[in-house]
Amino acid sequence: MLVRCPLDISPKARDLLYALMNFLNSVFCACLFSFSVVSYAQKPVSWQEKAKQMVEDQLVSRSIKDERVIESMLNTPRHLFVPENLSEKAYRDGPLPIGNGQTISQPYIVALMTSLLELKGNEKVLEIGTGSGYQAAILSQLCDSVFSIEIVESLAKSAKIKLDTMGYKNVVVKLGDGYQGWAEKAPFDGIIVTASPPEIPKNLVEQLKIGGRMVLPVGKTSQELKLIIKEESEVKIETITGVRFVPMVHPKD
Ligand code: SAH
Repeated sequence: MLVRCPLDISPKARDLLYALMNFLNSVFCACLFSFSVVSYAQKPVSWQEKAKQMVEDQLVSRSIKDERVIESMLNTPRHLFVPENLSEKAYRDGPLPIGNGQTISQPYIVALMTSLLELKGNEKVLEIGTGSGYQAAILSQLCDSVFSIEIVESLAKSAKIKLDTMGYKNVVVKLGDGYQGWAEKAPFDGIIVTASPPEIPKNLVEQLKIGGRMVLPVGKTSQELKLIIKEESEVKIETITGVRFVPMVHPKD
């Protein structure tokens, strides 16, 4: 910007004054520019932006394609399902501790397991291992109703309160042993197990509808994610990938 000097002074002094004023003007502009850059950089990132980044970097890049699953993960505030001191890390590419030696699964694993259920919107789904309630919240937006069983009392209680207050109305949480399933609510269109049993629990296969799908990790130290499709004449079992989950325990363990 050119600055004009209105004073009646010698040409030399005027040139000097012009130079000084232009210099001050440049310094002012430079300060203004750096201030805006700094304040932009310090603008807090919203959880929605973090979820968007999580979906792009961790799910889409690893071939998660189900648009409804992606939408559900974008709409769910994962930071509210982890302990407050870990909320900054909620959208990172990994599992996190949720207390009682349990973990909330890595976002990619939640998306992968949910996608494998191929939910369309009218299904009844059973979840074993409510934990933080995050997986149940994701499912609740993709099907008709979610029945979730948790064996640790404090986790069942806090997940129930959280899901209720956050308005996930089609989720029912029960304190109990997932190995028994939920016979009164069976059969289910989908079953998702988020702790690893050493073998596929028979009760759960029985409580699956014909045409239903079950996703679960199986194994003790070495675990594999399995997809089970129950057909009229046979139960098909497919191995998806290697995984690491907390063990599915028995009440007396
Ligand atoms: N789905 C959870 C992840 C939970 S981790 C989430 O989104 O946060 C696995 C959970 O399974 C733990 O909370 C653990 O207490 C629970 N669990 C282990 N054995 C179980 C059993 N037999 N029945 C029900 N829940 C069980």
